[in-house]
Amino acid sequence: MVTPRKDNSAHPKPISDRAPIASRGSEFQSPALERLIRSLSRLPGLGRKSATRIALYLIQADGSLGEELSEAIAESLAQVRRCSRCGAITEDDPCAICTSQRRDGHRLCVVASPVDILPLEKAGIFQGRYFVLGSLISPLDGVQAGDLPFPRLLAQIAENEVKEVILALDSSVEGETTSLYIQRLLQEYPLKLTRLATGIPVGGALAYTDEETLQRAFEFRRPY
Ligand SMILES: [Zn+2]
Repeated sequence: MVTPRKDNSAHPKPISDRAPIASRGSEFQSPALERLIRSLSRLPGLGRKSATRIALYLIQADGSLGEELSEAIAESLAQVRRCSRCGAITEDDPCAICTSQRRDGHRLCVVASPVDILPLEKAGIFQGRYFVLGSLISPLDGVQAGDLPFPRLLAQIAENEVKEVILALDSSVEGETTSLYIQRLLQEYPLKLTRLATGIPVGGALAYTDEETLQRAFEFRRPY
């Protein structure tokens, strides 16, 4: 029987024994589990500690959740795509909003991310179509205007004879920079350029704005 040591420092191991353990850091003795942890820790907001907790939970919870999760990920990767016209998340391309005859194709609402469409649709306050930029101009993060699909936006405006472009972007520095860029881009176009009015908190994310605030912001949108 091995007697547990109370104080490791009293019985230091030889350097040659300690070195390999130290160089492995906090890795498990399973390359497969390490790969899972590394993959999970690349998810936004997850560090190694949380990734380890999730990975252990997945492999310990009788395996069914892990299997369901891997199937759901595989299915989503195979079926979910971006609408080639508006950039929304969809399984059909073009998406239901782009193909709907009930939507007003002359009005185009520009959003940064596909999730920004959801609160607007849920509130039912906009019957036009959307255009997803995919990102906001952010030089500090290395995102320049040339990285965003502005040529496609201009093509859509011409193709659909768009009469109003509504900028529904976050009221952050990046949102303001992008709005200003679009304003300059469209200043020669014969259309009304509006943006969401008061209500969106400064620095706030559109996707997390409550319905009523969003509705008011939409109602009182003002010319840019
Ligand atoms: Zn679409």
